[in-house]
Amino acid sequence: MKLILLGAPGAGKGTQAENICNKLNIPAISTGNIIRAALANGTEMGLKAKSYMDAGQLVPDEVVIGIIQERLKEDDCKNGFILDGFPRTIPQAQALEDMGIEIDRVVDIEVPDETITSRLSGRRVCEKCANSYHMIYKFPKVEGICDACGGKLIQRKDDAPETVKARLVEYHAMTEPLKDFYEKLGKLRIVEGQEKVEDTTKLVFEALED
Ligand code: ADP
Ligand code: ZN
Repeated sequence: MKLILLGAPGAGKGTQAENICNKLNIPAISTGNIIRAALANGTEMGLKAKSYMDAGQLVPDEVVIGIIQERLKEDDCKNGFILDGFPRTIPQAQALEDMGIEIDRVVDIEVPDETITSRLSGRRVCEKCANSYHMIYKFPKVEGICDACGGKLIQRKDDAPETVKARLVEYHAMTEPLKDFYEKLGKLRIVEGQEKVEDTTKLVFEALED
C-alpha cells in the first residue's frame, strides 16, 4: 500500500504513521524527520533547511522532492510506504505523479486550528531518535526520557506558539489545496481527529479498508 497522510502540523500524522507502519510493516517516511536528522549531522542540505524550518516556513520544493526521490529508491519501499509530511504543496504532489508513483490512498486527518495550537505546546520529541510524546496525550514511561531509546525529550523550536501560527498559515495556503487535488483523483478520505489517539487510529484504519 502506498499511502499519504495529510493534515495540519500537529494533527497526529506522525503517530498514525507509526501505527500503520507497525501493522502493515511498510516504512513511515517523514520529511521533517529526515531534514532534522540532516541538520543534526551538519549536512549542507540540513543547514539550508534550518532557517525555513525555524521560521515555520516550508523548505523549498526542490529540496524535499530530492529527499523523497532518494528515499523511495531504497529497498524497504518496494512493498509500499507511508508518507508523513510529503507532499505539502501542489508541485510536490505533481512530482510524485511525474515519478510514476501510484498512490493508493490519501488520508487527511482534520483537526481545528485551536486544538493544534494547544497540542503542539505539549509535544516533546526525543533528541536522539525523534519519537514523539505529549505531556497530556502520550506520556513517556519515565518523565523526560524516550521509551524507545532512553534519549532526552525536548521541545522542538518550531513548536513555539508564534512559529506554530506561521506553520498553520503555510498549511492553509499551500497544503490544504492538496485535498482537492486528491479528491479529484478519487483517493481522498477524511478522518476527524479525535481527542483520544486510539479513536483516531480506528478511523484511520477504516479509511484504509473501504
Ligand atoms: P509538522 O508536521 O508537525 O509541521 P514536520 O516534522 O513534518 O512537522 O515538519 C517540520 C518542518 O519541516 C516544516 O515546518 C517545514 O519547514 C519542513 N518540511 C517538512 N516536510 C516538508 C515538505 N514536504 N515541504 C516543505 N517543507 C517541509
Ligand atoms: Zn528516542
